[in-house]
Amino acid sequence: MRYDIAIIGSGPAGLSAAINAKVRNKNIILFGSSNLSDKIVRAPVIDNYLGIYNVNGEGLKNAFRSHIESMDIKINEERATNVYAMGEYFVVAANDKMYEATTVILATGIEYTKPIKGEEEFLGKGVGYCATCDASLYRGKKVAIIGYNVEAEQEANFLVEIASNVYYIPIYKGNYSLDKNIQIIKDTPLEVKGKEYVDRLVLKKSEIDVDGVFFIKDSISPKYLVPGLEMEKGHIKVDKNMHTNIKGCFAAGDCTGKPYQYLKAAGEGQIAALSAVSYLDTKK
Ligand code: FAD
Repeated sequence: MRYDIAIIGSGPAGLSAAINAKVRNKNIILFGSSNLSDKIVRAPVIDNYLGIYNVNGEGLKNAFRSHIESMDIKINEERATNVYAMGEYFVVAANDKMYEATTVILATGIEYTKPIKGEEEFLGKGVGYCATCDASLYRGKKVAIIGYNVEAEQEANFLVEIASNVYYIPIYKGNYSLDKNIQIIKDTPLEVKGKEYVDRLVLKKSEIDVDGVFFIKDSISPKYLVPGLEMEKGHIKVDKNMHTNIKGCFAAGDCTGKPYQYLKAAGEGQIAALSAVSYLDTKK
């Protein structure tokens, strides 16, 4: 089956793209999380969302959720790990599954944390952003997972069945539902080191020998998600119709640049959806 539009991200940009695509009767798949977006839930008070004054993040999330549920929009709770442009369509890889869509809207938000030293240099040489995707490479090996969110725990629990040692370095406070064989290290990661491949992770108070390091973040840089995507100062380069440099690929929200705001993200999600619809019309 080929979808008309694959939307990656369930924040205000992705949800707005989804409702506008649905209004236009398009067949969509929306990748994201049941929580919608941490950046919605974490907001203590929001006074600048048109029509919903003085609401907290949980309240805004509930309003968004009820809107999409009323329109029968479902969230596919999988992380898209790669988007491949095939010419006339796209393939979205999520874990071990592949989905086809004629157009893609990237609404991934941005990760506020900066990469640590060595993270980008060793990407693909022992550093990765999806442990479940690359797990088979680490059979019997030592792996560190740097978890920026609770979802990283699932990746660690998956990897512990394959790797010889799994070290879990949480960058958040929590109760950590982890397999008893996973070693939790509460320390700050500073640098990934190695020669050709990763062999060491340097933390503030200690160093560990590792064969691989996974950074499990809310979103990874879109340039790693979509090969060939043109970026500008750390954001996806778009024109005023939210079109990227790749035919049929649109982007919306924080991932296209500042200001980082809900309504800007929702507005761009709408433009991206309408542009995707116009693009689909040219294919008829
Ligand atoms: P996000 O909300 O970041 O959503 C992106 C979603 O996509 C996330 O759920 C992410 O997990 C998911 N995702 C990313 N990559 C993938 C993938 N590969 N596969 C599947 N899913 C993926 N703005 C205001 O206007 N007013 C405020 O009062 C305000 N307060 C804020 C308070 C806090 C504490 C924070 C952190 C932000 C606040 N903001 C506020 C900014 C606002 O949260 C962001 O601008 C907005 O959420 C951006 O929306 P987005 O849809 O672009 O991205």
